Amino acid sequence: MFKRGACLLLSGPSGAGKSTLIGELLREFDDIYFSISTTTRKRREGEVEGRDYYFVSPQEFREGIEKGLFLEWAEVHGNYYGTSLQPVLQALEEGKLVLFDIDVQGFLSVKKSPIASVTTSVFITPPSLEELKRRLEERGSDDPATIERRLENARREIEYMGEYDYILVNDDLERSRREIVAFGTVARLKRDREEVEAFIERWIHTH
Ligand code: ADP
Ligand code: 5GP
Repeated sequence: MFKRGACLLLSGPSGAGKSTLIGELLREFDDIYFSISTTTRKRREGEVEGRDYYFVSPQEFREGIEKGLFLEWAEVHGNYYGTSLQPVLQALEEGKLVLFDIDVQGFLSVKKSPIASVTTSVFITPPSLEELKRRLEERGSDDPATIERRLENARREIEYMGEYDYILVNDDLERSRREIVAFGTVARLKRDREEVEAFIERWIHTH
């Protein structure tokens, strides 16, 4: 009936568990496309170019901005991060569920973009700031100064929680897994107003 895809946008402090839950979504859904962001930050151990991010130099990133390649971009913790427009449009065209892992600034840009009407947003948060600190330390991929900066950013980001469609408190991982799969399912069912109107139109004329 409807061919076009939908978007599931995830935000939340670094260390909240977004990548972990994205992994669960990728395992659960077939027709899913993870929007691979471009960043100027250094690659973490275990991260793979073209799977987790496209890692580029600040110069290359600026060229991307000038060429209008990004649906949105932002500076986060002193690095640039951006979402490429073309692959997202193609995945939507193919009817896929498009996943975004972007910060609050990116979310605010998407809210004003043409894909807003097919986007479901989820803010993922750890149970507390102390737990976030513990997870970042345990992950072991950031030095103490970077962890401090991420915690500071988390304090700011949490203020925007109320702007999202759903909030997921990532405490018990198995429960979070079930919730994120539910949000993925709901996101799929979200329809663009124009599509709904076209459906009503067709429905009236065939009944
Ligand atoms: P993000 O992508 O939001 O930065 P990650 O998915 O990398 O976060 O998770 C940060 C760390 O916390 C990882 O080491 C991960 O294994 C761990 N983690 C994720 N979810 C939970 C959870 N529910 N309970 C305990 N640890 C978790
Ligand atoms: P990390 O360095 O932990 O991978 O990501 C840091 C922050 O950047 C996270 O809040 C993440 O959601 C955000 N981020 C990742 N990719 C993008 C993007 O393409 N655009 C925006 N605006 N934020 C992003």
